[in-house]
Amino acid sequence: MLSFLDPARPEPWASFLEQIDRVVPHLGRLGYWSETLKRPKRILVVDVPIHRDDGSLAHFEGYRVQHNVSRGPGKGGVRFHPGVTLNEVMALSGWMTIKNAALNLPYGGAKGGVRVDPATLSRAELERVTRRYTSEIGLLLGPTRDIPAPDVGTDEQIMAWMMDTFSINQGETVSGVVTGKPICLGGSLGRREATGRGVFIAAREAGRRQGIEINGARVAIQGFGNVGSVTAQCFAKAGARVVALQDASGSIANPAGIEVAAALAHVAAGGRLVEFPGAERIDGEAFWEMPCEFLVPAALEGQLTCERAHRVQTKIVVEGANGPTPPAADDILAERGITVVPDVIANAGGVTVSYFEWVQDFSSFFWNEDEINARLETIMANAVRTVAELAAERKVSLRTAAFIIACTRVLEARDRRGLYP
Ligand code: NAD
Repeated sequence: MLSFLDPARPEPWASFLEQIDRVVPHLGRLGYWSETLKRPKRILVVDVPIHRDDGSLAHFEGYRVQHNVSRGPGKGGVRFHPGVTLNEVMALSGWMTIKNAALNLPYGGAKGGVRVDPATLSRAELERVTRRYTSEIGLLLGPTRDIPAPDVGTDEQIMAWMMDTFSINQGETVSGVVTGKPICLGGSLGRREATGRGVFIAAREAGRRQGIEINGARVAIQGFGNVGSVTAQCFAKAGARVVALQDASGSIANPAGIEVAAALAHVAAGGRLVEFPGAERIDGEAFWEMPCEFLVPAALEGQLTCERAHRVQTKIVVEGANGPTPPAADDILAERGITVVPDVIANAGGVTVSYFEWVQDFSSFFWNEDEINARLETIMANAVRTVAELAAERKVSLRTAAFIIACTRVLEARDRRGLYP
């Protein structure tokens, strides 16, 4: 067995494998095909060499993994982060397969990444890394083959460079090869905010089912980037109190509610979140003990450890990040009666509006923001309802219910397509 396929490694891929193992007993005859989900379809590891601005040569390692393409082209973001590993990208690609199927989007699952700290690169170096990486993985990409999008450390400018590089190599403009692009290049209105908006809708619907109103609810959010900051804004607009925030700079709290717009303006002006004057600086571990109704991990995977799961004081965990809760921590939260709205539903707003963007690019007909947000609202609310109903019927967690729905769709496609040769 290849070392990175070793389920014993306590890494994201091991969490994904365990989540699959937990769902297999619920799949009936389709369980026959379940091994398919435990093996990524394609893995490409690439060297990304660039000239630094000072004339020196630097090499970075890049990945693109297509976990499953039974239901359609690969779809999933690209991460630029110094901690990116193949193991992590494999897990993230697997969660994309599940997410796309759970939402019934016509995609398989894929993910990419480069092990690089974008903060240490000049803008010109960042562009060179992006273009070389895109060129290296270009053999897998295309609007009907594999469609990247932003993730941690990447944004719409990076998507513009990816689209341009792929297009130049093709000899024609291919807008639909990435989503999360700038509007002027065929991007969709509402895409930038879609993940955070979806996290909020999922939280609101899960809260409603437990009689928890958003108005007046207390919220703690880890991560104040694309996902965390928009989630915080949505909660604040709906009358919730964002009592604690944490990002890579540290943690802050204000039991009366942090003024989210002011905190965003502070960070946008180049300030560190931890130095925001409208809140008190707290210890990183104290963040996890903040009494709240909603706790939203929206940074990186593996953050809600078993140790933290014993200490959190929340009613509902809403997974803005991918893979923040390892299976053993899931069990502790379940024992404590804390609901977990799983990543594959909670943060699916981003890929849902990416799907809208891809459809708009194909038809060259663009929708207005109200239409996009209304469709997002309907899809997200329905997804939470469907998963919650199945969870109640089968007496399983929301995560297992979401995996049952998703794996059934993926493996039904696998079964009907059959094996070649
Ligand atoms: P981002 O780069 O915009 O923000 C990441 C945030 O996490 C930053 O505020 C950073 O300071 C914080 N962070 C990093 N390391 C931390 C640490 N050790 N402790 C506390 N905070 C830390 O990334 P993003 O796009 O907001 O993505 C966040 C999560 O959401 C990731 O798990 C990503 O896969 C997931 N996600 C993103 C999207 C999307 O559309 N961007 C869609 C679905 C899921």
